[in-house]
Amino acid sequence: MEVYLDNASTTKVSKEVFEAMKPYFQEEYGNPSSLHDKGIKIRKVLNTAKKTVASLLHCDHSELYFTSCGTEASNWALKGLAFANRTKGEIITTKIEHHATLHAAEFLETMGYIVHYLDVDNQGFVDLDQLTRLIGDNTLVVSIILANNEIGTIQNLSAISAICEAASVYLHVDAVQAITHMPIDLSTMKVDLMSVSGHKFHAPKGVGLLYIKDGTHIVNLIHGGQQENDLRSGTENVPYIIGFTKALEIGIDQYTDYESRLNDYARYFLKRLDEAGIDYRLNGPPIGPDRLPGNVNLSFKGYEGMDLTYYLNKAGIYVSTGSACDSTSIDPSHVLQAIRVPEDYIHATIRFSIGAYTTKEQLDYALDNLIRILQELT
Ligand code: PLP
Repeated sequence: MEVYLDNASTTKVSKEVFEAMKPYFQEEYGNPSSLHDKGIKIRKVLNTAKKTVASLLHCDHSELYFTSCGTEASNWALKGLAFANRTKGEIITTKIEHHATLHAAEFLETMGYIVHYLDVDNQGFVDLDQLTRLIGDNTLVVSIILANNEIGTIQNLSAISAICEAASVYLHVDAVQAITHMPIDLSTMKVDLMSVSGHKFHAPKGVGLLYIKDGTHIVNLIHGGQQENDLRSGTENVPYIIGFTKALEIGIDQYTDYESRLNDYARYFLKRLDEAGIDYRLNGPPIGPDRLPGNVNLSFKGYEGMDLTYYLNKAGIYVSTGSACDSTSIDPSHVLQAIRVPEDYIHATIRFSIGAYTTKEQLDYALDNLIRILQELT
C-alpha cells in the first residue's frame, strides 16, 4: 500500500480540477491578449475566473494578481514594497517563515534594509509584545506566516493586524498553507498583501496568487507586456489559473467537513501512539482551531529522523522531516529550533500531513508501520 502523508509539501491535482483544465490545452488555447475571437474568448474566461476567486476570498477582482507560485508572490510582496517605498528602511518578519520570505528578507538586508526576526513561543506563536516594541515610523512592512508549514501554528491575525494598523504599517501574510485549510475572508482580515499557492490545495504546481489591497504602493518585479493590470508581465497560464479557481471553489466548499475529519484523524493518530506507549512530543499548538487540520508534527525521543523516514519510505509511507525544502539537510529546521524542541527529541522530527484524500485504512496502515518501526529501532 502507498500512503501519502506529505500534503503540506504538495497535493495531487484532483480529478475535477484536471477535468476543468483540460479544454485549455488543446482546444481553447488562445492568448488572452490577442484581439481575435479565440483570444477574446479566453480573456473573458480569465476575467470570470478572477471574479470567482475574488468572491471566494471576499475582495475585489482588481486586487488579485496571478503568479507562478507562492515563492514569487512573497518575493514580489517584499521586494515590490521595498523598491517602491525607499524612505522606510526596516522590515519585521518572524523566525519561523518559509524560505520564500526568509531569503527574500535576507536579500533585502544585503541592500541595506534592517530586518527584525520576531521570536515565537514554544507552540510557534509570534511574540506580540516584541512586535509592538519594534514596529515604528521606519517600518515598511510586517510579513507573517499565517499558518506554519511545519508545525501548523495559525497566528493570532486580528492581534497582529491591529498592531500594524495602529502603526500604519503594511501587513503581508503568507497564506500558502492557510488557503482552504482555515477560513479566509479578506473583507475582515485587515491585511494589505497575501500570498497563495495552488499546489497546496489540489491545483497544479506552478500557479500562485498575490492579493494586493487597493491603494498599496508597490512596483512590479517582472517587466514586459501589460498583463495583470500592467503589474505582473507574462502571458497568463490559462489552464493552471482555471485549475486554481476550480480547486479553490472545491476547497472552500468542503472546508467544514475537511476540518472536522482531519482533526479527528489527527486525534486518532495521537491516541494510537499513546496506546502503544510511544514517547513523542507534538510540536506546535494542540489539535484544534489554532492548528492546521491534518498537521501532525512529532518528535520521537532518542531516534534519528532519517532512519524513521527511510523505513517509512520502504513501507510506502511518504512523510517529511522538517519542511520539504529542508529534507536533504540533517540539521533541525529553523522552525524546530525557534520553538526550542528539546535536544533529545529534535533529531527525530517527522511531519505527517494528512490530506483531503487520506483514508482511515491508509492511516491505520501508516500507524501500524510507524509503531512497528519505532519498536524495532529501540
Ligand atoms: N510559503 C509556505 C508557507 C509554503 O509552505 C510554501 C511551500 O512549501 C511556500 C511559501 C512556497 O510556495 P511555492 O511552492 O508555490 O513556491
